[in-house]
Amino acid sequence: MTAKTASSIDAAPADGGNPFLQGEWPTPFGLAPFEAIRPEHYGPAFDRALQAHEREILAIASDTAPPSFVNTIEALERAGSDLDRVASTFFNLTGSHTNPELQAIERTVTPRLARHYSAIYLNAALWSRIAAIDTDAEGLGEEERRVLERYRTRFRRTGAELESAAKERLAEIASRLAELGTTFSQNLLADESDFVLPLEGEDDLAGLPEFLRDATGQAAQERGAQHGHVVTLSRSLIEPFLVFSTRRDLRERAYRAWISRGEGGGTTDNRGVIAEIVRLRAERARLLGFASFAHLKLDDTMAGSPDAAMNLLREVWTPALARAANERERLQALARAEGADFAIAAHDWRHYAEKLRRAEHELDEAEIKPYLPLDGVIAAAFDTASRLFGLRFEEVRDFPRYHPDVRAWAVQNIDGSPVGLFLGDYFARPSKRSGAWMSAFRSQERLAGDIKPVIVNVMNFAKAPRGEPTLLSFDDARTLFHEFGHALHGLLSDVTYPLLAGTAVSGDFVELPSQLYEHWLEQPDVLRRHARHYRTGEPMPEALLSRLLAARTFNQGFATVEYTASAIIDMTLHLSAAGEEGLDVTEFEADALQRIAMPTEIAMRHRTPHFAHIFSGDGYAAGYYSYLWSEVLDADAFDAFREAGDIFHAETAARLRQFIYGAGNTRDPRAAYTAFRGRLPSIDPLLKKRGLAA
Ligand SMILES: [Zn+2]
Repeated sequence: MTAKTASSIDAAPADGGNPFLQGEWPTPFGLAPFEAIRPEHYGPAFDRALQAHEREILAIASDTAPPSFVNTIEALERAGSDLDRVASTFFNLTGSHTNPELQAIERTVTPRLARHYSAIYLNAALWSRIAAIDTDAEGLGEEERRVLERYRTRFRRTGAELESAAKERLAEIASRLAELGTTFSQNLLADESDFVLPLEGEDDLAGLPEFLRDATGQAAQERGAQHGHVVTLSRSLIEPFLVFSTRRDLRERAYRAWISRGEGGGTTDNRGVIAEIVRLRAERARLLGFASFAHLKLDDTMAGSPDAAMNLLREVWTPALARAANERERLQALARAEGADFAIAAHDWRHYAEKLRRAEHELDEAEIKPYLPLDGVIAAAFDTASRLFGLRFEEVRDFPRYHPDVRAWAVQNIDGSPVGLFLGDYFARPSKRSGAWMSAFRSQERLAGDIKPVIVNVMNFAKAPRGEPTLLSFDDARTLFHEFGHALHGLLSDVTYPLLAGTAVSGDFVELPSQLYEHWLEQPDVLRRHARHYRTGEPMPEALLSRLLAARTFNQGFATVEYTASAIIDMTLHLSAAGEEGLDVTEFEADALQRIAMPTEIAMRHRTPHFAHIFSGDGYAAGYYSYLWSEVLDADAFDAFREAGDIFHAETAARLRQFIYGAGNTRDPRAAYTAFRGRLPSIDPLLKKRGLAA
C-alpha cells in the first residue's frame, strides 16, 4: 500500500477521550468531530453501539404487550442510532480518506456487522411480531403502511420464514460476503494506488495540453516527486491521457494497466474473490427459493424480473453496436489519412475519437475546459437547484473536516428554513477510492425529532497546482451534476421514517434524480450563465456553445457499448447457477462478450476484476442495468419540462420535488413516477437522447 496516512493518526491524542462515547456532538448539524477521532476509537465505539442495538432489539422482540406498529416498527426505527452514527462516520472515511489502520478495522468490522444484521433479520420472535401487526385494526396512514410493508419484505428476503439450518447458513454467507466485498475493494485500491506511469522529458509528454501537463505534474508531486510527471489510474488523469498522448506505446501501457486492475496476479488479484462471491450469492438465492441471484435481486425492483431488464439492454445493444461500427470506420479512415498503418485498437479509440470530434464538430476538449472552472460548475449546480426548488447555499467555513480539501454549505429553503448540510470533497488523492459518489453522514427523518440531513459528494477530479483553479472537462461537469442530483435526493428528503429516507429507493429508481439533473447542465440557458472563462469571466462564445451541444451524441455508440456490455456481463454472471466450483472469471467474461459480439476495439466500462459497483457490496449486483433503466425515466421526465415550455417550469418542479426528490421510498417506484408524470415512461426519449432512434 502506498496510501498516505491521514493527518489524524499523527495528531496528538485529544484530551477529551473517545468522541463516540460522549453524548451529542455540539457541531453544525451534528457533524462528527473528525479532528478528535483517532482510529483506535472505532473499536470501542462499535462495541458499545452494537451492544446497545442488541439490547434494544431484545427488548422489542421480547415485549409482552401485543405487537403493534408503535411497539414494533417504530421501535425498530428508533433503535440503533448510535450504531448509525459510528458506521456512517467510519464507512464514509474508508471510502474517501482511508489508511492502513482503518483498513484493518474494516476487515473485521464488516463481517461483524453482517452477522449483527443477520441476527436481527433471522430473529424468529421479532419476525412473528412484525408478521402479526394488524394493518387495518391500527388504522395506519400511507407512510406507516409503506414502512411496515418494507420491513416485511426485507425480513422475508433475508430468510425470516426459513428453517433454522437454512437461516444459519444464510448468516454465514452474509458474513463471508461482507468480508469478500472488503477484500475486493482493498485489492482494487492497492492496484490503483500502486501503479504510476512515469513520464520523463518532452518525448513522453508529446501531445499533452497544458492542463494535463499540470495535472500529471501535480500527481507526481503528491506521490513524492521522484518523477516530473506521472499518469495514475484515476479516471480524470488516464482518460485525458488516452485522448491526448500522441505516443501510441505509452497509451498502450497505461491502458493495459488500467483495464487489468484486479487481474494482475499476486496478492491483489480479485478473480478468486469474485468466483467465491458469485457462488455464495447463487447459494443464498437458492436457499431463498429463487432460480438465481439475479431473480432474487430483481424481484424487489421497478423492473421486476431479469427478463425485463435484459429486454431493455438488448433493445439498445443492437443499434449501439451498429453505431459503434460506424464510428470505428470513421476513426479508421481518419487514422489512415494521417498515415497510420495499424487497425484502431482499444488504446487508440479515445485518441482518434477526439481528433474526429475536432474535425467534425471543431470541438477541442482543451478549448472547453477554461470555461468550466470547478467553482463555476458548483455554482451552476446550486443555481439550478435554486431555480427549480428555491434552495439557497451558503458556504460554511468553520466546521470539522476530515481532510483540508473538504468544503461545506448550509442549505436553506427560500423562506430561510433549514434543509441540511452539503459537503463537497472534490479532489483525487491516494487515500480515496476511485469513482464519484454521494453518501450521507446523517439521513433526514422526523421520528427522532426534526433531523436534517448531512450529505456529501465525493469526486476524483485532478487538482490544479496551488494557486490555480481546477478546470473540468464537460464529462467531469456532468459527473458533478449527477452526484449533486443524488445529493438533492438526500437533502430534499421529507419523510418520517429513517428506513424510507432519501436514496433508500429501489436500485433501478435511484439513478433517476441524478441522471435527470444532468439534463440541466446541457441547457444553453444554464451554460450561458455559468460557463465563464476562469481568467476573463467572459461567457463561453455562442459558436463554441452550439458546437459543444451539437456534439452531444458524438461517440455515443462507443459509450453505449462500453456501458451496456458491463450491464449484460453483470446480469449474465448473476443469472448463471454459478454454484459450480471454480468459476474462471477471465474465461467467463471472454465467452459472454463473444456471445454478444463485443467489438474488440471497445472494452467494458468496468471489466469484471475491478467492477466495484457489483463486487464491493451487493448494491449494484445484478443491478448495473439500473443506470439505463433510470435513463428511460430521466429522458422521459425531462420531457415534462420541455412539454411545459420552460426548463424551470414551477408546477412541474413542484411535482418533481413532491413525488421524486422529496419522497424517498414512501411510494412504490411505479406509483411515484406516475404521480409525477401522470403515466409510466416511454423508451423513445432515451433512444433519441443517445442518438439511437431508428
Ligand atoms: Zn449515480
